[in-house]
Amino acid sequence: MRVILKAHNVTKRFGGVIANDGVSLTVREGEIAGLIGPNGSGKSTLFGCIAGAYPIDGGEISFEGKPISKLRVGPIVRSGLVRTYQQTHVYDEMTALENMQISSRDAQGSVLTLLKPRARAINARAGELLAFVGLHEKRDHKAGSLSFGQQKLLEFAMALMSEPKLLLLDEPTAGINPTLINGLIDRLKRANEELGITLLVIEHNMRVIMNLASRITCLAHGRVLAEGTPDEIRGDARVLDAYLGAQ
Ligand code: ADP
Ligand code: MG
Repeated sequence: MRVILKAHNVTKRFGGVIANDGVSLTVREGEIAGLIGPNGSGKSTLFGCIAGAYPIDGGEISFEGKPISKLRVGPIVRSGLVRTYQQTHVYDEMTALENMQISSRDAQGSVLTLLKPRARAINARAGELLAFVGLHEKRDHKAGSLSFGQQKLLEFAMALMSEPKLLLLDEPTAGINPTLINGLIDRLKRANEELGITLLVIEHNMRVIMNLASRITCLAHGRVLAEGTPDEIRGDARVLDAYLGAQ
């Protein structure tokens, strides 16, 4: 499979803290890749570096073979690389549908899109994707009135509105009840299989990531500790130690 994302030797410092210390990671087109590691091991920071939120202090990142480490968030999103956040980023006072509309690839965050001729197509796609995540009946409800789990589903649907080729998901199941978790895993798999979106997923729940990912990278203290298939990771004593040591 073709490589879609390559991070090579990425280093990111926050003052004296080295959050990413020479991290290398490869994602292949069409796969679901996993990123795990104890709290504070640098997972979200790596997403910030890849997505253009943070300038990196060293290393290189390429998407579809092109260097992106000097690009800002906007051009990176438009090239098809989109992330979601550990904390949900929905607009509470807007309805689910309005949140979807402003997330469309054309809108780029502006409500002016609603005046454009494309509005009808955008609304149709928004409706389809709300149905895809099971939120069709909530389309006219304010996002702030949705449960946390529903907001996570909405955020996932919003990310799909920007038509990503590669979607980075930061702890998509955190804080969601077990019933919704299963529904969300199912949708992530369908987004991968039916919509053809490559996924890189940060996940704290071992059961979830083992079920979802075909390859997993484990970070500890800002470095790659291990990488391999779920079976290899499950049997890796260093990974177990890193998690137990972090409790
Ligand atoms: P993870 O997502 O694996 O829990 P993070 O990437 O959030 O880890 O954090 C890695 C390290 O970088 C931690 O020590 C954290 O405190 C630090 N860090 C993360 N973001 C910032 C920031 N914006 N400013 C300063 N320090 C940060
Ligand atoms: Mg994090």
